[in-house]
Amino acid sequence: MPTYFETLAELCEKLGTTKKRSLMIKLVADFLKRLEPLEVEPAVSMILGRSFPRGSSLKLDVSWATISEIIKRLTNADWNLFLSIFKRTGDLGSAVKEFLEKSRTYRQKVLLENPLTIIEVRRRFEAIAEASGQGSRDKKERLLEALLSIASPLEAKYIVKILIGEMRTGFHEGLMERAVSEAFQMPLADVQRACMALGDIAIVASKARLDGIASLSGVGVQVFRPIKPMLAQVVDNVAEAIREHGGKTALEYKLDGARVQIHKRGDEVKIFSRQLTEVTESLPDIVEYVRGNIHVGEAIFEGEVIAVDYRGRPMPFQHLMRRFKRIHDVNVMVNEIPVKLFLFDLLYLDGRDLCSTPYVQRRSLLAKLVDVENLTPQIITGSAQEAESFLMSAINSGHEGLVAKRLDSPYMPGVRGKHWLKIKLTLEPLDLVIVAAEYGYGKRHKWLSDYYLAARDEETGDFLVVGKTFKGLTDAEIEEMTRKLKELTIKEEHRRVIVIPKMVVQVAYNEIQKSPKYKSGLALRFARITSIREDKTVEEVDTIQKIKEIYEKQFLKKGIYDIR
Ligand code: AMP
Repeated sequence: MPTYFETLAELCEKLGTTKKRSLMIKLVADFLKRLEPLEVEPAVSMILGRSFPRGSSLKLDVSWATISEIIKRLTNADWNLFLSIFKRTGDLGSAVKEFLEKSRTYRQKVLLENPLTIIEVRRRFEAIAEASGQGSRDKKERLLEALLSIASPLEAKYIVKILIGEMRTGFHEGLMERAVSEAFQMPLADVQRACMALGDIAIVASKARLDGIASLSGVGVQVFRPIKPMLAQVVDNVAEAIREHGGKTALEYKLDGARVQIHKRGDEVKIFSRQLTEVTESLPDIVEYVRGNIHVGEAIFEGEVIAVDYRGRPMPFQHLMRRFKRIHDVNVMVNEIPVKLFLFDLLYLDGRDLCSTPYVQRRSLLAKLVDVENLTPQIITGSAQEAESFLMSAINSGHEGLVAKRLDSPYMPGVRGKHWLKIKLTLEPLDLVIVAAEYGYGKRHKWLSDYYLAARDEETGDFLVVGKTFKGLTDAEIEEMTRKLKELTIKEEHRRVIVIPKMVVQVAYNEIQKSPKYKSGLALRFARITSIREDKTVEEVDTIQKIKEIYEKQFLKKGIYDIR
């Protein structure tokens, strides 16, 4: 029997009302067990607020501006009512539900329709994503309008949440791994390993249900299937990194560019971003380099691409991002924004999965395949003094700092552990999301130039403001940001607009203070935007819990850091 989308929506409602993790896991596991095999992948993706599994090339690409226009048309009701509901609930999906419930026009229409199934919703998402070329905006809008016009208010609430990618149920990927483990009676470690190899929990769950868990026991790294990147924890200084790694460590320059995972089989090369989306087309020069200079049959490399100036010096991160935004005229961009590839890891080589091979061996295999000028500079040392001068040489060459890598460490996909430690000189910037903005004054009066920055509350999934800034962006960036924020605008109040949390920015600051001004109770002093992080999603925004920790630690650190 096909499962109704309404049942999935009801499950998400229940998840949103409890904080008990064990109960959440049980609810989801029971739900997954009852699904038809082909429903598992779409259901797991949707519960996590994703329209498609990670790594899929399909993208819905519909903005809140479009969604709100459709809702206005479907209800014929006073939009101010929507805004007042939103103000009370603070949640777009809930506001949509309540607003639709209050509209008689909408209710009458919905009663006449057959209920939506999970598969039907997915099929319609696919149709929206596939609309391309001339007139695709209108087509997407028509398809979405058709979907929302047959959804009940509760279904519409979750369709909207999936569209904007923000579920706020507190049920994150880690909990989903546990639910999948329970539902399909597969040891958690096996689920996690399969996720690392296949890159997505929904795909793992689906395979477990369709082909049985035995089919997952042998899954390993495969060329052209992106692997979740391994991440680093922060430490205060090189001495701490050496100590943490048992007296000796490998130090590599930390380059401030875009992480790339390069997959090669013969002449075929594909490049994936940190988010595991394919970016091959933006980097034809890197593809060319790999094809012509790295002589291997099959391999997966990891590294960083940085933008460089005519002398080969690193350029700011924003500069590089222009490369990834341009779909047309890529060749013009290749000349305008020269980039350089620095490789730092080798995860697979001619049939051998190297993830469990120790770092030093992976690095020496890599060094045999790649020219030294395309290898991330590295030293192995136990001396704090030597490490300190290597750090200074990284900074003096225009890089961010160092990453210390434990010599015997495996490559752990998706894990931010102590095997990799990053060291920077100043207080580490935070990744925050813009939740509101104000128009500026004088020549900036037409631009949204003052931004409210929020961190994520790990417990509730809410975004809480921790600061406000008008500093850091260039005029051109402010203009572009204004355009983007207008598309995400939920509501305008006088000079301020409230936006869907989507635009992630990296923010430097001098200090964290306690402050009654914001609900979070914390405020960043002298916050300034250092870059727009279009490569990061709201799921990756720093948490209130982390900021509290930094607040508590900063008293110990004053004087050690260069607090600008
Ligand atoms: P962060 O984004 O601050 O958590 O730092 C981790 C990122 O640093 C990685 O995702 C890489 O994109 C980048 N990075 C730069 N240089 C290196 C390196 N040598 N090893 C690993 N990651 C690096």
